[in-house]
Amino acid sequence: MHLTERTRLAPSPTGALHLGNVRTFLINWALAKQRGWRILLRIEDLDTPRVKPGVTDSLLRTLDALGLNWGEGPLVQSADFEPYRAAMRQLSAAGLVYPSIESRGDLEEAAAGALSAPQEGARESVFPAARRPAAFPTQFSVGTGEANWRFATPDDIVTFTDGFSGPQRHCPAQSIGDFVVWTKRDQPSYQLAVVVDDARQGVTQIVRGNDLLDSAARQLLLMKPLGIERAPSYIHVPLVRGQDGKRLAKRHGDTRVETYLNRGVKPGRIIALLARWSGIKGAGDEITAEQFAGAFDLSRLPPDDVIFTPDDDRWLVGGATSGTRS
Ligand code: GLU
Repeated sequence: MHLTERTRLAPSPTGALHLGNVRTFLINWALAKQRGWRILLRIEDLDTPRVKPGVTDSLLRTLDALGLNWGEGPLVQSADFEPYRAAMRQLSAAGLVYPSIESRGDLEEAAAGALSAPQEGARESVFPAARRPAAFPTQFSVGTGEANWRFATPDDIVTFTDGFSGPQRHCPAQSIGDFVVWTKRDQPSYQLAVVVDDARQGVTQIVRGNDLLDSAARQLLLMKPLGIERAPSYIHVPLVRGQDGKRLAKRHGDTRVETYLNRGVKPGRIIALLARWSGIKGAGDEITAEQFAGAFDLSRLPPDDVIFTPDDDRWLVGGATSGTRS
């Protein structure tokens, strides 16, 4: 057992945890139990327009009801911006960031998805190096409310081996270009905050949805100038989608775990469904998080995304039909 290995659960309180989020957390938690990683909780509440009041409490209740505990935290990102400002000063002193004032149309196009963990469908256009100013300021300053600060993305090819998704090769300069690290709302972007926090919290193991796989390359590029020597190991797992192929969301009905719990669905039944979705055979009608961790095998996790169907919903809420789908 490596006592120094640390992972994190990092929910964004932009919406209560749905079955897809919770499946990823359960897998993360199970791997931590199996491999002896310490678990930290981090509330990623920087995407203020989308952060909703009360959601943090709701997600803490959900994790608790499912038996997903943690050893440290929560660290709430909005509580203190100084670590992120310090990182910006460091990037600025190295001549790697610049304020970027664009027309609204350009900004919408070029910065889509930059403020929070990228959302599927919000395709990010490339922001090419050609749009950099001739000279970068040597000091990071905030305040006009008009400029996002962008990272001058180097041309490097980033390679790493994902613990589930396998060998990766990305060139963020080509696929993304200069991405936002500090927003005109005077907040760190997701990409910057996650790198700063994973480093200051000593996170060595990152388990999350594979929609963030290409963000890992951007994050690895930021680590070098920030003096972060040990890159974390990554495990990006498939997502849960609706029958339309889109990532699980409101349009697929109310799949919030707290709603199921409020409707009287037992936590163990929810975990049994997630277990079936995670390659665990014979989970039956109810299983605890501990039992999930005992039975989970990352090498048997189905490589394809899970499709949530109305049958799954019916199975969850209708104990009478239990046992018909195992
Ligand atoms: N807070 C992010 C999300 O909920 C996860 C970020 C990460 O794991 O790096 O999508």
